[in-house]
Amino acid sequence: MTERTGRRGHRAGEVAGEVMWPVLDVGSTPDAAPIGGSNVMAERTTHFRTCPLCEATCGLEVTMEGDAVVRIRGDRDDVFSHGFICPKGSTLRQLHEDPDRLRAPLVRRDGVHVEVTWDEAFAEVERRLLPVLDAHGREASAVYLGNPNVHNHALTIYGRALLMALGTPNIYSASTVDQMPRHASSGFLYGNGLAIPVPDLDRTDYLLMLGANPLESNGSLCTAPDFPGRLEAIQARGGRLVVVDPRRTKTAELADEHLVIRPGGDAAWLAALANVILTEGLVDLGDAAAHLDGVDALGPALAPFTPEAVEAATWIDPATTRRIARELAAAPTAAVYGRMGTNTVEFGTAASWLTDVVVALTGNLDRPGGLMWPHGVHAKPHTPGPGRGFRTGRTHTRVRGYPEVKGEFPVAALAEEITTPGEGQLRALITVAGNPARSCPDSTRMEAALADLDVLVCIDPYLNETTRHADVILPPPSPLARSHYDLAFYGLSVRNVANYSPAIVEPTGLREEDIIARLALVVSGQGAGADPQIVHAMVLDGVLGSAVGGDGPLAGRDPAELAAQLGDRSPADRVLEVMLRTGWAGDQFGAVDGGLNLELLEANPHGIDFGALTPQLPDVLRTVTGRVELAAEPLVADLARLAASLDRPTDGPVLIGRRHVRSNNSWMHNVEVLVKGKARCTLQVHPADADDWGLVDGGSASVTSAVGTVVAPVEVTDAVAPSVVSLPHGWGHGAQGTRMAVANAHAGVNSNVLTDGSIIDPLSGNAVLNGIPVTVVPA
Ligand code: SF4
Repeated sequence: MTERTGRRGHRAGEVAGEVMWPVLDVGSTPDAAPIGGSNVMAERTTHFRTCPLCEATCGLEVTMEGDAVVRIRGDRDDVFSHGFICPKGSTLRQLHEDPDRLRAPLVRRDGVHVEVTWDEAFAEVERRLLPVLDAHGREASAVYLGNPNVHNHALTIYGRALLMALGTPNIYSASTVDQMPRHASSGFLYGNGLAIPVPDLDRTDYLLMLGANPLESNGSLCTAPDFPGRLEAIQARGGRLVVVDPRRTKTAELADEHLVIRPGGDAAWLAALANVILTEGLVDLGDAAAHLDGVDALGPALAPFTPEAVEAATWIDPATTRRIARELAAAPTAAVYGRMGTNTVEFGTAASWLTDVVVALTGNLDRPGGLMWPHGVHAKPHTPGPGRGFRTGRTHTRVRGYPEVKGEFPVAALAEEITTPGEGQLRALITVAGNPARSCPDSTRMEAALADLDVLVCIDPYLNETTRHADVILPPPSPLARSHYDLAFYGLSVRNVANYSPAIVEPTGLREEDIIARLALVVSGQGAGADPQIVHAMVLDGVLGSAVGGDGPLAGRDPAELAAQLGDRSPADRVLEVMLRTGWAGDQFGAVDGGLNLELLEANPHGIDFGALTPQLPDVLRTVTGRVELAAEPLVADLARLAASLDRPTDGPVLIGRRHVRSNNSWMHNVEVLVKGKARCTLQVHPADADDWGLVDGGSASVTSAVGTVVAPVEVTDAVAPSVVSLPHGWGHGAQGTRMAVANAHAGVNSNVLTDGSIIDPLSGNAVLNGIPVTVVPA
């Protein structure tokens, strides 16, 4: 593959950069010398790093002159992305230079945020937070972790230290905004909520995608740089791409076939596909057969979901449903990939489960070309044999009694847990790289809740819609000032790869792990002035202790001896080094010749490819039986709720979201090159509906749901189905007290004013952001 340009791929033009921070002489390649017209010899250096902005993990080539970024483009030699980048990738420079990006902590004094030193900031956290914890207990505190946490290995590694120090049971994250159904279904099926199989894009002959638009999102829960090119390659080798979506997305336009489905109908339609495969004798379990339990139970459980029974709820005619089921069964290999549109609905876990059921019934689970499990090289070898299984509901939310899932409560419950009086009422919140004021359902209530807190501490680079309510804001360094390794996404990747990026510039403030360490010391009562090395030593001891325990290759080794081999690296990188060296591809601290370590990755700045995915059954399973539980009881029990939904009235418009390649949730709208041009935060309305409702293109519409109203500019387009309207998420800037000049000038409207926090997918706790009943009238 070569660097892609044009309608999808992108190569950044050369741009002038301001002098910001000195260049580190780490992993760089001097390739030119003076800047013309100056008597100062500014060294031109080229650095290779992985883009940290989305799950695609594209390789970037960053050119610096002296201290300034002058060009960012795709790294043609990257082993995984081969030069592909999207328009966001080159904007690391703009993020780095953004004058609104916070360089120093802010403390709110008399309603105004003022810059303070780091010592003053932590002293302020201690002064405000500890009395609240002392008076009301740790259960009156909560943590919200936003999406960028999983794009940052320091935050991933150190997050647990903060949670343990705070000692709160109240953990919320962006996972229950858009992906917990995939974790929950994997938990019930495979015994491990992180064992998410991904479509083997590069070898499949047939890909059925539901509620996914990777030509805009670049993929999610499936790490595949140049996702568009990989889809085109399926077609080029004679394969077939079918997209199921209420909107004719760019991905749908690329597909061989686009099926328009009613929003929220995915679970019922997938049940019908499985029903056809079971009733027409198309089941062929393939090599996975020996590891599957529950196949016999699926027939009776899915009997109500005939193609005819689900037609009204899905808008897909029975003949088409039968044809797609037969095509899946007949294809040499096939994969089914359901994403945002299938997860952010009230049957999200059912849809995710039935995705895997269809794949398993057609013999495509755990085989090349089907759904396969990645195995990140930093992960330990799988332990064969039964596991402890997957449980939910070990604790419950106070107000509505929602069960925890994977140790988290639904974000949909966060606002009511803050605003509802009584014992255990949340009074203190720490957010890490999150903007719940825009990301969570029922934003109006969430904003009021944030304003209601006794204390709010935020780790965030911007004074945004959430942090404007903060008592203290602790800013992380520039994305170019941190090292990078995709701990999370190499576990979701269509190939096993590894790539490490050193920092390019010096941080002006504290590294993420130092911020977390100092915060952990404050909340654990050790004081704002305590030495963060206490936490760094504790985190490193934990990972080294795990490495030398058990009967692995390092059993019995002295942790101190291993620590001495880690070199002079940042605290987070020392932990990463242990994970890489003790992972399945690691050098086991010298015991395996040529094994992986950070030094080897630094010597390979374009990454190392460990090859295509390989079958992982049964070792990946952690169920109590040691088998795939295809008919796990909680999943089968949920079918009664799904069956009852088939009879609901289906008239009246419903709201869905949408993605744009130049947008990244709520936090990149302060980059001018990404938001300039035609307004993207529009309400898409079908022409027939526009006529019926008296709307005109370019006019305004008032959209009202059960919980709120927004007024949005109208875009009349037949890309959306009749009775479906679409607003993108992450917008609604311009709030008083924020400091994001560009975003505020391109404010848009906040779709989460319309989403109802009282409706969730009960098995996963995920918010319902798609298929919201609304009324639409001219504004
Ligand atoms: S697709 Fe994602 S990883 Fe690749 S350049 Fe764009 S934002 Fe970065």
